Amino acid sequence: MHEMGIANSVIEAVRKEAARHPGTQPCKVGVRIGELAAIDQDALRFCFEAIARETDLESLQLDVEVCPRRHRCSACRREFVVHDYDFRCPQCASLATECISGDELELAYLEVEEYGACPAGEKSS
Ligand SMILES: [Zn+2]
Repeated sequence: MHEMGIANSVIEAVRKEAARHPGTQPCKVGVRIGELAAIDQDALRFCFEAIARETDLESLQLDVEVCPRRHRCSACRREFVVHDYDFRCPQCASLATECISGDELELAYLEVEEYGACPAGEKSS
């Protein structure tokens, strides 16, 4: 189950980033995942919560953004989003197109709050 590995890398990246901002608590992390990475979002959330549970990152929220597959036409250089596995260039109808994105897996953003900014007992989401 590669979602577990991904959840692990996300948590690690958050910890690394948080270490650069002493006195803050990560509260929300945004992850950008390409359509081609074929991640099961529910599984990823499940793993993420399982890893964060009972750690200082327990209240961390995960926000997943799925990026569509994009191709670039080799003939006219047009870049376009692929729908339903139709790789043809919408501008010149060439089939000579190449995949330029859609398999990314990266941290989009990390929201932190300063210690004490969030009153105890108001953790509701
Ligand atoms: Zn074209």
